[in-house]
Amino acid sequence: MGAVEKPRDALPVTAGWEYASSLEGREIVSFEERYGLFIGGDHVTPRSRSWFTTVSPSTEEPLAEVAQAGPRDVALAVEAAQEAFERWSTWRPAERAKVLFRIARVLQERARELAVAESLDGGKPIKESRDVDLPLAAAHFFYYAGWADKLEYAFPGRRPRPLGVAAQIVPWNFPLLMLAWKIAPALACGNTVVLKPAETTPLTALLFADVCRQAEVPPGVVNIVTGDGSTGAHLVRADGIAKVAFTGSTEVGKAIQRELAGRDIPLTLELGGKAANIVFDDCALDQAVEGIVNGIYFNQGHVCCAGSRLLVQESIHDQLVRKLKRRMATLRVGDPLDKNTDVGAINSKAQLDRITELVQSGTDEGAELYQPPCRLPEKGWWFAPTVFTNVAQSHRIAQEEIFGPVLSVLTFRTPDEAVEKANNTMYGLSAGVWTEKGSRILWMADRLRSGVVWGNTFNRFDPASPFGGYKESGFGREGGRHGLEAYLRFE
Ligand code: NDP
Repeated sequence: MGAVEKPRDALPVTAGWEYASSLEGREIVSFEERYGLFIGGDHVTPRSRSWFTTVSPSTEEPLAEVAQAGPRDVALAVEAAQEAFERWSTWRPAERAKVLFRIARVLQERARELAVAESLDGGKPIKESRDVDLPLAAAHFFYYAGWADKLEYAFPGRRPRPLGVAAQIVPWNFPLLMLAWKIAPALACGNTVVLKPAETTPLTALLFADVCRQAEVPPGVVNIVTGDGSTGAHLVRADGIAKVAFTGSTEVGKAIQRELAGRDIPLTLELGGKAANIVFDDCALDQAVEGIVNGIYFNQGHVCCAGSRLLVQESIHDQLVRKLKRRMATLRVGDPLDKNTDVGAINSKAQLDRITELVQSGTDEGAELYQPPCRLPEKGWWFAPTVFTNVAQSHRIAQEEIFGPVLSVLTFRTPDEAVEKANNTMYGLSAGVWTEKGSRILWMADRLRSGVVWGNTFNRFDPASPFGGYKESGFGREGGRHGLEAYLRFE
């Protein structure tokens, strides 16, 4: 009797088997009951006398009380940074490099603790905070430590000088990593900083204050003011700042640009995205499926450069969608501290509502929704991995940034059509191209209006590689030698 043949693209059967949970130790991190602001090297009580509670999105458990900085607090932080700038900017660059190097080493030493804190406060799976956020955050400090005493070589024939106090505002999707992207180049160039973390994820920035103490960062060189959007607005308006760097929504980015109009303050904006992940019929299909899954379900899709639009060549559409659905059925949604978890919690109730609303619009506009069967935890904020087929370019789910685990599938026939559809968005942050032909990757990269184009991979980051957008994805570059330029003036 012949054996029953499995379909060639079948995955091993998982039904009936359960993973044993493998929890990362929660006890490695202990939060204070209440955090003040980090100003001039000290934790200070906010003048505003106001606090808010930060909760874990996976359990809704309160984690700590955090200060809500008002205008007076922000002004004090900027004053502390101005005072520190007088000395820090005159340090020998090689000495500044040592400070950055020490920060990188302390981040490595405390990686486990910081990864757990990041997953608790933000909801991302521990395997991501442990294997992506922390190693990359440390790598950014190592990388820019290397540049600190070589600025003259980075810009031959020009005399680079620091700007002064950099006001830096970061979002909730990569709290510590975005902090590293901002603070490392600013300090390497001799600036001092006032950083505002997002309201829902302030804890790793507050732990970073302790990393600064351990690394002997001089008082006032790094200041951290927590609070909601109003704290960010006070920071942008503050007297004494010499630079603004913002990562977040296009809407707030535009508001900041308006606020700075007429003031001679350089600005970098890293805003939203609606990346096209473009799959040609000659690609390694299983590898592409992995790239698609990584592109959209990594960090619950809370990624500005997420591959949220899948453009697939018509001839392989059905086969690819079938493989993708099978792969999605193996994704494990649940406790961020479980090392087996692939998709963690949605960062906040507000973000969950936004995702739910946009997904509803997809169904209403006629796209076809698929979600693999999965049990979502009862407490906390969750959304199952989702894919929409039969999507039209005019649908909101093909135009707007959902910032959740939701993929929209569209088709194309020719490379020209793929380029046209990929560029048919107000954003221009990233794109992916999957094909066996190297020449086609280069041809596409030339025509895609995206700051980053990945070839046969997705969501790859390296401190040496510049990152940033076109169109409404913002301007300026972070990372690499280009990332230094944003924090320098030239004599
Ligand atoms: P925001 O742009 O509001 O938040 C980013 C940062 O800016 C946060 O620290 C926020 O503070 C702060 N902020 C808010 N308002 C102001 C202001 N007027 N002036 C200065 N700073 C301000 O993003 P949201 O959290 O509201 O997310 C909304 C949408 O934005 C998401 O659904 C997603 O589409 C997109 N987004 C894009 C990101 C990206 O990396 N490109 C990152 C985050 C969101 P606070 O958190 O306290 O409100």
